[in-house]
Amino acid sequence: MGGNELRYVHQALDTNRISQYGSNIDEFENSLENYFGSNSHVTALSSGTAALHVALRMLNVEKGDFVICQSFTFVATANPILYLNAVPVFVDSENQTWNMCPEALEDAVKYCIQKGKKPKAIIVVLSYGMPFMVEEIVQISKKYEIPLIEDSAAALGSKYKDQLCGTFGDLSVISFNGNKIITTGGGGALISRKGEDKTRALFLSTQAKDGMEFYGHSEIGYNYRMDNVAAGIGRGQMETLEEKIMLRRKNHDFYQEAVKDNENIELFSAPNSDFFSNYWLNTIILKNNFPKENLRAKFSEDNIETRYLWKPMHLQPLFKGYEFFGNNLCGTLFDTGLCLPSGTNLTDESRNRISEVLQTKIH
Ligand SMILES: *Cc1c(COP(=O)(O)O)cnc(C)c1O
Repeated sequence: MGGNELRYVHQALDTNRISQYGSNIDEFENSLENYFGSNSHVTALSSGTAALHVALRMLNVEKGDFVICQSFTFVATANPILYLNAVPVFVDSENQTWNMCPEALEDAVKYCIQKGKKPKAIIVVLSYGMPFMVEEIVQISKKYEIPLIEDSAAALGSKYKDQLCGTFGDLSVISFNGNKIITTGGGGALISRKGEDKTRALFLSTQAKDGMEFYGHSEIGYNYRMDNVAAGIGRGQMETLEEKIMLRRKNHDFYQEAVKDNENIELFSAPNSDFFSNYWLNTIILKNNFPKENLRAKFSEDNIETRYLWKPMHLQPLFKGYEFFGNNLCGTLFDTGLCLPSGTNLTDESRNRISEVLQTKIH
């Protein structure tokens, strides 16, 4: 927590506005809109997953429709496709940003068109905060006139060529879950380019009421709005965002130094200065067939937790039978990679312990 969260939460309680209306929601959305700039309209919702679900509804995704989705991601990216009984078509990553491979994407689009149905949406992800190949992916989305959804759930503050991620998609999604760069406990936001899209997002996320006076409904809606208490936390957290990005990026600097002479480890880093990652998580790839379980065990001996990278969606039992385009680079990432401790609260003492393992035990 940064400092002002409690003050804003108190405001919600003092004014008896703890539900889905109130000044914290308005101010939190305003601060996000100021952050993203004039071209962005923000709807605060109960989670990033909810925002993805609403985004697909806004693009009229229905039963049997194709939705193209990056395979290398957390399951929350792909689940909303199944909520709508639509058909995911998974696409591999490229090795520069670990995000959607443009060539494989184009193959997937052609496959869908050949099947007689142009995909209703493309969902691209920003893995561990890293911007995707923005120009190539946007160009394919424009060429085939397929709307782009940016799953920036973990990438608040990341930029491509000095433009904030979350502003490239027709619709973009942010998460404020407890593990993300700033949090509301649980929460998310949908960012749209047009004001009327925000009106639609609000409508769908507050039970799709035809009119306020009577209980009339002609469409399926959801109860997905953020509440005014959570928004109070978000409002306070927004004031700390720049500092949190700086701290995450400092963790990356630390890892760069810690692995620089280690021939068995490659730290996942921006391909060049066009890509500005918030480095939400720091991840590594093990080289020379160095076994990742071996590294995990060595960290574990010193009571340091490491985690696996995302297991690609096309390898999950849940998505068995759906198409996948690419050469399974994302499967190789899963097999050879690990996430290292990356919190904004990492102390110098913890860094020294991590560095010790990296420099003395992995050769
Ligand atoms: C966290 C995350 C989500 C889901 O957000 P929630 O707010 O937890 O629902 C979706 N996609 C990615 C890439 C994420 O990291």
